[in-house]
Amino acid sequence: MLDVAIIGGGPAGLTAGLYATRGGLKAVTMFERGMPGGQIMNSSEIENYPGVPTVMSGMDMMAVWPEQCSRFGLKHEMITVERISLNNDGTFKIHKEDGTNEDAFSVIVGTGSTPRRAGFKNEDKFFGRGVSTCATCDGFFYKNKEVTVIGGGDTALEEAIYLSTICSKVYLVHRRDNFRAAPSTVERVFKNDKIEVLLNSRPDEVFGDDMGVSGIHISTPNGIRTLNTTGVFIFVGNDINNAVLKQADGSFLCNLNESGEVIVDLNMRTNIKGLYATGDMRLDAPKQVVCAAGDGAAAAIDAISYFMEHKN
Ligand code: FAD
Ligand code: NAP
Repeated sequence: MLDVAIIGGGPAGLTAGLYATRGGLKAVTMFERGMPGGQIMNSSEIENYPGVPTVMSGMDMMAVWPEQCSRFGLKHEMITVERISLNNDGTFKIHKEDGTNEDAFSVIVGTGSTPRRAGFKNEDKFFGRGVSTCATCDGFFYKNKEVTVIGGGDTALEEAIYLSTICSKVYLVHRRDNFRAAPSTVERVFKNDKIEVLLNSRPDEVFGDDMGVSGIHISTPNGIRTLNTTGVFIFVGNDINNAVLKQADGSFLCNLNESGEVIVDLNMRTNIKGLYATGDMRLDAPKQVVCAAGDGAAAAIDAISYFMEHKN
């Protein structure tokens, strides 16, 4: 039986592994379906991780994490976990894609989230080179420049307001004539001189060259409008990677909110004893590397206490 099973090897899972093993737990395995590092490995630039003063690629920044996090005995098994279930005695079973399974006294889940794409032409081609799903991460690269934001929910409007504090102008493109976001947020958008709202409008295509995006064509009620913005931010919803918590009968192992985020307390505890959720998948996650790492540490510290108090 594992002392702790960690599902996912992004910043949250790796940090949980470091803290759990350095804190004295002996049998700790991190199940990660690919190379450890998580979604930040797809980012060409990160400059907001404290203690790392140079701008570097996500791949370069994460390259040293697995070695450090494994130094105290964390094991990595490269496999996809299909499901976590609860045993009768309150321990957990980790169901792996090869049909085998493993028992664990407690489980820290950090399987992340996936921002949705809007589905316009060249969106994937220019992703990370002008097309972004993270204003906190990439907004600063467009300081005093014009940017386009796609979406009409709370995230799109709040991020448009945030970008208006950095950028010279923000075009907010929404496919309908009224917003899904909270009325107070909509009001703030319409009062913001730096935000121009394009309603009943859809992105058709981004265009650019080897350097990245140079503009975007938008279908508006008055025909095609071309916005020559080098930054295009998409906020059309998020898929939480919570599939490992789904049970054979379709229910979830622990409580989630209506967006599929796992409900946790400040120690990352779910409503099921010994089960933790960390990083981008948990309620109100700021979706930042530093926060995911912090969650991993908080969960592991609590999991050590749980192990000491309840094992035997
Ligand atoms: P993830 O990093 O998503 O890691 C989850 C891991 O779980 C993945 O490695 C995945 O393979 C694994 N996994 C999922 N399901 C399973 C399964 N069933 N079995 C086994 N393994 C599984 N943040 C910043 O702080 N600064 C930035 O500048 C920044 N820029 C970004 C740029 C881009 C393009 C993107 C996409 C994100 C950026 N972020 C940035 C956000 C940051 O990457 C995330 O907040 C952070 O990686 C979340 O960490 P996590 O450990 O919760 O999840
Ligand atoms: P969301 O509420 O699902 O909104 C997604 C938006 O993107 C919608 O306006 C939708 O248009 C649009 N959209 C979806 N697919 C699209 C596509 N392919 N092309 C163009 N537009 C597309 O997502 P969210 O804004 O990320 O919010 C998620 C949840 O978190 C919500 O419950 C939200 O209230 C909550 N949240 C709350 C706060 C807060 O309380 N401060 C902050 C952020 C998020 P339609 O409107 O036409 O469907």
